[in-house]
Amino acid sequence: MDSVVSVDPRRVRELLRVILERPDWMRRAHCLGVDTNLFFPERGEPTAYALSICSECDVRLQCLAFAISGAEREGIFGGTSARARRRLRVPVKAALAEGRLYDIA
Ligand code: SF4
Repeated sequence: MDSVVSVDPRRVRELLRVILERPDWMRRAHCLGVDTNLFFPERGEPTAYALSICSECDVRLQCLAFAISGAEREGIFGGTSARARRRLRVPVKAALAEGRLYDIA
């Protein structure tokens, strides 16, 4: 039996825009295809699995810079929790401004 799926063209356009405009490094993210809920745990939920995925990711620094530059206040980015990023915000922003992000890794 055939099924009909209704797709909102605006939603498809927005999804395509996000995919096409994302930075190139995101295509090399180790978390591609992993359940995003793991990276946005509720209070008290485990983070070890998501952090272990980040620990093997080649674009961890880019991801951390992205999260801090874009003020991502929730979730796990660049191998850091939101709490850890609050502590890193000042030194990472300073490193980014001086073009020496790799020095603090
Ligand atoms: S560092 Fe973690 S969250 Fe960032 S792209 Fe890599 S696996 Fe994904």
